[in-house]
Amino acid sequence: MSETTKRIRASGGKAERLGVDGVELYALCDGYLDMELSRFPDIKRGIGDDLAIADGQDLNDMTVSVNAFLLRHGDRLCLIDAGDGIWRGDTLGQLPRALGALGITPYQITDLFMTHLHRDHAGGLFHEGRLVYPNATMYAAADEIAFWSAPEKIDGVQRVQLPIAEAALQAYRERLVVIHPGEEILPGVMVRALPGHTPGQVGFQLGKEKPLLIAADALHLPALQIKHPEWGFLFDVDQAQSLATRIALLNEAAQSGLRLAGAHYPFPGVIGVTQGEEGRGFRNAVD
Ligand SMILES: [Zn+2]
Repeated sequence: MSETTKRIRASGGKAERLGVDGVELYALCDGYLDMELSRFPDIKRGIGDDLAIADGQDLNDMTVSVNAFLLRHGDRLCLIDAGDGIWRGDTLGQLPRALGALGITPYQITDLFMTHLHRDHAGGLFHEGRLVYPNATMYAAADEIAFWSAPEKIDGVQRVQLPIAEAALQAYRERLVVIHPGEEILPGVMVRALPGHTPGQVGFQLGKEKPLLIAADALHLPALQIKHPEWGFLFDVDQAQSLATRIALLNEAAQSGLRLAGAHYPFPGVIGVTQGEEGRGFRNAVD
């Protein structure tokens, strides 16, 4: 097994502080998912294999981390996405343990900031039919709520995601705050539009001097998609929109130094995008 894969598989239940000015932010690891390559149908073997190997990975045996983030903001404890939970076996569902590593119980979580409602982000809201974060208020984007609230328009690829999205919206219907890109939902926490992966996907941007954008699933595999953003993901609802979002984000990150935190980058999941003579690359950028 490759070194990066070993590291990803050992990260479940871990928490790590991230350096962002003015806020207290942690990356949390829910566990890992084995990635079937067929979910990235445009990857060119050969070129793709070389990029994976350069990052200590193996295209024949890909594993992705499932990350979430915790923001401590005054007396608020805001969880940004909730991981997968145990829907897909015991490689996942370790987010409560990651919170425990910080001395925090799920009952203390005051707010849930959802980037989108796919099951690897919202599945962890539930455990055996009960709410894991029963005291929290949920924040979800208007376009995301609208998408999952019109099941007749949802195609076969996305249909598998529908039960969790519906359950999340139903469970939190009386404690749901509808958010929009451009809003500052807490002092220093900006909502940004990242449409494509889902129509209402949003990111949360924090920090001023060295800003960091929790960029959800705009980009899944830094080792491959930074050089080849056109290698899209099968579960992106709108492939063309997703590609446009990904390219704009990579351009911005390369030019401005904006760091990106991803739900599926190797834990702790924070990168800076570099631009050199040999083109785009990335570096780990936890602080
Ligand atoms: Zn995801």
